[in-house]
Amino acid sequence: MAFWEEKTLDEMTDAEWEALCDGCGRCCLIKLEDEDSGLLITSDVRCQLLDGDSCTCTDYPNRQAKVPDCIKLTPQNVREIPWIPTTCAYRRIAEGKGLAWWHPLVSGDPQTVVDVGVSARGRTFAEQDVAPGEWEEHAVDWPEWEPPEQL
Ligand code: SF4
Ligand code: SF4
Repeated sequence: MAFWEEKTLDEMTDAEWEALCDGCGRCCLIKLEDEDSGLLITSDVRCQLLDGDSCTCTDYPNRQAKVPDCIKLTPQNVREIPWIPTTCAYRRIAEGKGLAWWHPLVSGDPQTVVDVGVSARGRTFAEQDVAPGEWEEHAVDWPEWEPPEQL
């Protein structure tokens, strides 16, 4: 059995925990809060440190020093943070759903997360290029969108 099938999030090693990320980059998008309802909406504006093509953090070791509101996911908070995408591997495991067919650990191909439309690759604007007053125009509903069972 693969480690994600036999271990809980709490039981995983650091290497297994890191390998679980599908690299979609969705959690690194700027969130917008509706002033009236408090609802958090994801935008297509990416964090200043996210590479828009590879969807990797360009300074992962120092990310929290450079971006104070960067959240380090843990087995506990992934169950509590409402804006974690429903497609996120950590959230899926925490909710007992296992990994989806398109997750690179299952498909064996990092491209499947892009092909199925889960990845933010090539779909975002850099935080440095969008004035905060324009963020509202960049609201997207990716986190609520579920990818197909098969392509
Ligand atoms: S949303 Fe989850 S799977 Fe996607 S990049 Fe963030 S931590 Fe990784
Ligand atoms: S600092 Fe890095 S890990 Fe944190 S939100 Fe930005 S790109 Fe993502």
